[in-house]
Amino acid sequence: MTRTFDIIVLGLGANGSSTLYHLARTGKKVLGIDRFQPPHTHGSSHGESRIIRQAYYEDPIYVPLLKAAYPLWADIEKASGKKLFQKTGGLMLGIEDTAVIKGSRLSAETHHIPYEYLSSSDLQKRFPAFLPQPDTVGLLENEAGILFPEACITAFLTQAVHNGAHMICNESVLHITPGNDNVELTTSTGKYTAGQLILSAGAWTGQLLPELQLPLSVKRQPLYWFKEGDPSRATRYLPANMPVYIWEYLPGRMFYGFPDLGNGIKIAWHHRGETIQPDELKQFTSSEEIREMQQIAEKYLGMAPIYNTSLVCMYTNTPDEHFIIDRHPVFKNIIIASPCSGHGFKFSSLTGKILSDMATDKKIPFDLSPFSITRPAIYQPIT
Ligand SMILES: Cc1cc2nc3c(=O)[nH]c(=O)nc-3n(C[C@H](O)[C@H](O)[C@H](O)COP(=O)(O)OP(=O)(O)OC[C@H]3O[C@@H](n4cnc5c(N)ncnc54)[C@H](O)[C@@H]3O)c2cc1C
Repeated sequence: MTRTFDIIVLGLGANGSSTLYHLARTGKKVLGIDRFQPPHTHGSSHGESRIIRQAYYEDPIYVPLLKAAYPLWADIEKASGKKLFQKTGGLMLGIEDTAVIKGSRLSAETHHIPYEYLSSSDLQKRFPAFLPQPDTVGLLENEAGILFPEACITAFLTQAVHNGAHMICNESVLHITPGNDNVELTTSTGKYTAGQLILSAGAWTGQLLPELQLPLSVKRQPLYWFKEGDPSRATRYLPANMPVYIWEYLPGRMFYGFPDLGNGIKIAWHHRGETIQPDELKQFTSSEEIREMQQIAEKYLGMAPIYNTSLVCMYTNTPDEHFIIDRHPVFKNIIIASPCSGHGFKFSSLTGKILSDMATDKKIPFDLSPFSITRPAIYQPIT
């Protein structure tokens, strides 16, 4: 038997769970479906913490979206009664003309975001958790902090169901059959149709739309937790003393991290993983990988780092590292959302609202053209 809905959300990670929540509140008959039971460790939205910040080094175009995402995080925090965000401040670190420093400053100045510009000695005095070199500078933004991704997804899904959404987990969509009036999904156990489909399948997006040949590359991204071995220095790594940070330690090469939330500091490379197929993701890190990151924690955080644990996640990257948020170029009743490239979580409170508004024909008060699926970096129609 085929079940029929107004709108189906395929994939209930960061973006899909938020979308389902916003759609449920419109009164439409909506279904959210996922191959696993979110939140889970098979995609891109796990691992205790995500950075949220506004002085966006990647591009000032993101700042209006971030300004809108913050109050929506506060809304879902209030609706769910759960702690989803912790303010720590955020530090961008690097030498003066690196992309992280120049770009954050540009965004902060363009959009009037208060910030402090700190020299190496300022940094050492204020934040003993960091060991900057003499030419390292820091841009400190107060409103940055940590989102708790598993709690965020749980909050969105719980509130979505509370507002009337249907949800099916542990059922994999095998095939999407587009049509002019309806979209049909074939899963491992049944069929579903809807007037519209929102595809928020993360690393599996390309596989589900093979005809578009989207240039999405899925990268393996390990995360590591280390405890400080010297108890007399442990307090410097606590959230009260250590902001979240991104450190461009060599031009174009970055690591980032979080203070100790109980499991030790979390630290990871940004954009350095090898290409994988999403179904190949394994929760395994080698002793060489762990040792390499331990050396970074020694050198840049002055730690005596004791390895605690690790996880592996996936980035789904576009060639220009901007998101895809657009309708299918041929089948307009399919909306495609791939806000990842390693920086999409912080937006997901808003992305879900935007996708819900798109599906219900509301006006979107943002310029989404940078995320168009037909921009040259993404899609070249066959002529
Ligand atoms: C290690 C790491 C660190 C990051 N750090 C940050 C950060 O600090 N700040 C930030 O803003 N962003 C960060 N990001 C990026 C951010 O986490 C992602 O952009 C975001 O989580 C992507 O969410 P998503 O909903 O697109 O994908 P996912 O959360 O992976 O959701 C996709 C869902 O689709 C489901 N699915 C896929 N195929 C099917 C199918 N065939 N049938 C049914 N269901 C299906 C999957 O099971 C999954 O639940 C980071 C990402 C990683 C990996």
